[in-house]
Amino acid sequence: MSEGLITAAYIIAALLFIASLSGLSSQETAKQGNVFGIIGMTIAIIATIGAMVNAGDAGAWSYTLVAVLMVIGAAIGIRLATTVEMTSMPELIAILHSFVGLAATVIGFNSYLDHDILLGAAKTIHNVEVFLGIFIGAVTFTGSIVAFGKLSGRVNSAALSLPGKNWINIAAITSSVLLLVGFISGGWGLTALILMTIIALAFGWHLVASIGGADMPVVVSMLNSYSGWAAAATGFMLSNDLLIIIGALVGSSGAILSYIMCKAMNRSFISVILGGFGNEATAQNDDQDYGTHFETSAQEVADSLATAKNVVIVPGYGMAVAQAQYPVAELTKRLRAKGKNVRFGIHPVAGRLPGHMNVLLAEAKVPYDIVLEMDEINDDLSDTDVVLVIGANDTVNPAANEPGTPISGMPVLSVWEAEKVVVFKRSMGAGYAGVQNPLFFKENSEMLLGDAKASVDAILQNL
Ligand code: NDP
Repeated sequence: MSEGLITAAYIIAALLFIASLSGLSSQETAKQGNVFGIIGMTIAIIATIGAMVNAGDAGAWSYTLVAVLMVIGAAIGIRLATTVEMTSMPELIAILHSFVGLAATVIGFNSYLDHDILLGAAKTIHNVEVFLGIFIGAVTFTGSIVAFGKLSGRVNSAALSLPGKNWINIAAITSSVLLLVGFISGGWGLTALILMTIIALAFGWHLVASIGGADMPVVVSMLNSYSGWAAAATGFMLSNDLLIIIGALVGSSGAILSYIMCKAMNRSFISVILGGFGNEATAQNDDQDYGTHFETSAQEVADSLATAKNVVIVPGYGMAVAQAQYPVAELTKRLRAKGKNVRFGIHPVAGRLPGHMNVLLAEAKVPYDIVLEMDEINDDLSDTDVVLVIGANDTVNPAANEPGTPISGMPVLSVWEAEKVVVFKRSMGAGYAGVQNPLFFKENSEMLLGDAKASVDAILQNL
């Protein structure tokens, strides 16, 4: 493959990745965006192998190794993609980010050991690339593992609050900067790299462990961004322009998404990326008496819906768990056929992934034009006859409007302003952030306890 052809292939791949990101920004074009990404990645892989052949310094053994690893990687990827449940996607994404972090760390060490013949400015620049690549990679690696644990329920999602946690973070950053200075000027060599890696691994773990359950959406997008910067740093180390471009695209789009999520959740971007810097630990008084709740039946909910004119459906993570989107779509169709105004209210962090609910509703063919964002529907809730809260909890919790809880300050859907609210869930338990929900005990709230899919199916039979 000629040098010119490889450069052309890299440029085409980069343009396809930009088109892919642009396609992924809306539901209607998301599939097309994925196709652009797949074609871009195929071209990138072929061109990279072409560049390897051109370099001519790899033996037959290297080609065999690349081929074997590609087959193993593809087999694992295909298996994961075809078997993963939609509810497990967030933790899968988190663990995949950890692989990018690990790769950047390992390549950093390899690149340092491989380039000890460099001299002068070239050596300094390369050492800075190596140091930053390993630092970002190691932080991403352990941070993503903690995020995987929290998202999969293997680790408590509550925020870890070590005494002087902000000082721990400041000490980690300051000592890493000192090690960088020693590494590039004082000839501290491999020792500085190893020490910094240990600090960065602990720092990544501590950063994500310090972020509470409700702020995890920002963590997922933030780690996405870090993995992009780690890939960009690897691109600099390997002098691979395409990897630098892809890394920068992932890094900046992840950072923009983190910023959007922070705005939606009324959180400070700086505070979240610094592991909750400036936030005081909040405690929940579990002994509080919320009063009594009222339980209803599928028949009674069907009767309420029969007389309602305006209905709003607010889905949450429980709809994903129950796979209730199909009966919910059927219920919507039946109610609309009876002339009722049915709309959906989607909280920006409902579920466990940005856009989680939109994907599920699109899968069940709910028309896009009745699926509204929280800001678009919140003002209409007071004129709504019945709100069906299907497996949502933190995103409809009025405790967010009070101080002193992990979700305080987060805007929520004020479903309690409707004439009647029916909450579909299996128990009276708290949501992901572990905060009890006073909504369940309000006078106009009714609980329909049980699996959400079974409950919606039962309503359909009674409608
Ligand atoms: P929550 O996670 O707060 O609550 C979901 C509710 O669904 C639970 O209370 C549970 O109650 C109920 N549920 C679970 N399974 C079923 C079932 N089979 N049938 C009926 N109900 C069920 O959901 P929200 O969507 O309101 O909030 C999302 C939370 O996740 C927020 O705290 C957000 O910050 C966080 N998060 C969001 C991410 C994102 O990117 N969107 C990423 C990471 C975290 P019960 O067990 O009683 O049934």
